[in-house]
Amino acid sequence: MKYKLETIPVWDAIEQQEEPCLFCFLSAETEKRKVSFYLGNSVMNPETRVKVNSMGFCPDHYAMLAEAGKPHGVSLMAHTRLQETAKLLQNSLEEQNKAHSPRGVKKSADRINAVMDAREQGCLICESMERSLNRYLYTYIHLWHTDESFRETVSASRGICLYHYPKLLRMAPEVLSRRDLQEFCTAFSSLMQQWLKTTIDDVDWQTQRYKAEHAGKDWRGCEDAHKRAVYREIGKGRLKDS
Ligand SMILES: [Zn+2]
Ligand SMILES: [Zn+2]
Repeated sequence: MKYKLETIPVWDAIEQQEEPCLFCFLSAETEKRKVSFYLGNSVMNPETRVKVNSMGFCPDHYAMLAEAGKPHGVSLMAHTRLQETAKLLQNSLEEQNKAHSPRGVKKSADRINAVMDAREQGCLICESMERSLNRYLYTYIHLWHTDESFRETVSASRGICLYHYPKLLRMAPEVLSRRDLQEFCTAFSSLMQQWLKTTIDDVDWQTQRYKAEHAGKDWRGCEDAHKRAVYREIGKGRLKDS
């Protein structure tokens, strides 16, 4: 088995019928857990400090930590990390002191950019989210293949967003034999078409409902259909670097 099965969280998520998809819901949960981990006492742990210093966080997650209202741990991480960044920038800053021709200034800007780009590569939180997501995708396909009641729940579910759907497809050959893969592809191609149609029909009724001729009619649960349509495309709880 390539990944550890996460049967309970996947079942719980699909039964909650979260919009736009269970992987969005599960990823957002992982993100919350990891953000609170890096805001807690664990950052005092030397091993974690080393990791934070070398890999760090993507700009979105670093900002999320800074704005979380828990300054102590973040101050420790930021102090060590910014010292390291200052060291990495030292040469560029010294060269900049000497080069003031237009070409020299642009070169300095490029050099500083390159240091900062390299510094922003990788993210401890995105990396954990990706590892968890792979386990959830693997489990979803495994359950779909082995558990009839899960298969029925998938058919009745609100589906998967178009951000996570290609990730699910990419995972399928890791889980299924060639013969089972064909069954999976057939089933999910029609499921995805059905999920898209439902979302389109809902947002269509929302637009119709705004017309004078339909004033006062039942919303049929479509007051928020625009959000469902947007998130069906882009997903929620995305990895920040993808
Ligand atoms: Zn999703
Ligand atoms: Zn990140």
